[in-house]
Amino acid sequence: MNTDFIKSLTKEDFKHTVNLHIHTNSSDGTYSADEILEQAYELGLEHIAITDHNTLDAYKNSGLLASPIVTTGIEFDCWFGYVFFHLLGYGIDVNSEDLKPFLAKSHADKTSDIRRLFSTRNVEHLIQAIHKSGGIAVLAHPACYWCINLDSFVKSLIKIGLDGIEVYYPYDRMRGVVKFHSRHTVEKIADKYMLIKTGGTDCHKKLSTLE
Ligand SMILES: [Zn+2]
Ligand SMILES: [Zn+2]
Repeated sequence: MNTDFIKSLTKEDFKHTVNLHIHTNSSDGTYSADEILEQAYELGLEHIAITDHNTLDAYKNSGLLASPIVTTGIEFDCWFGYVFFHLLGYGIDVNSEDLKPFLAKSHADKTSDIRRLFSTRNVEHLIQAIHKSGGIAVLAHPACYWCINLDSFVKSLIKIGLDGIEVYYPYDRMRGVVKFHSRHTVEKIADKYMLIKTGGTDCHKKLSTLE
């Protein structure tokens, strides 16, 4: 699936008409994929991506793949060194054999925050699998990770194939009040390494846009 259009999206697009980070009841969200799709049309959104935790189930038995506003997506739990983080994949083939070994093995792998902490995915192999399945790999909500130097963390991920970074998202609403890095730091890193800038609300309930 072509993800080139993401490169041309601006901050304004992510504020009003694009949301590339949405959860459904296939992981820990409230609504089904078709309900989210309906909400997206009601809001007049032009691009959405469902990014459930470690699963592509939302793309099966729903109208997602038939909709022109949908880009495929997923959000993986990963450890890289001592940092636990989330990696988004966009534009992937949802039937890809390459991704299968990295998908959830149980219901808890898709829904339980505690269970998901025990993820054992090899990040380098995962990024390779995302690329082989036609997608791009994007670091999710980077401001909340427990790493002292976000720049060097991102740099290490770029060395193993990271393509993009989530820049436009609700920083204040992420993970309560705990925030280790500023919005400014994230934007600076994105520009410094010429990463693809993505965005979304990380919505688990009713769909909305950033503004
Ligand atoms: Zn996340
Ligand atoms: Zn998420």
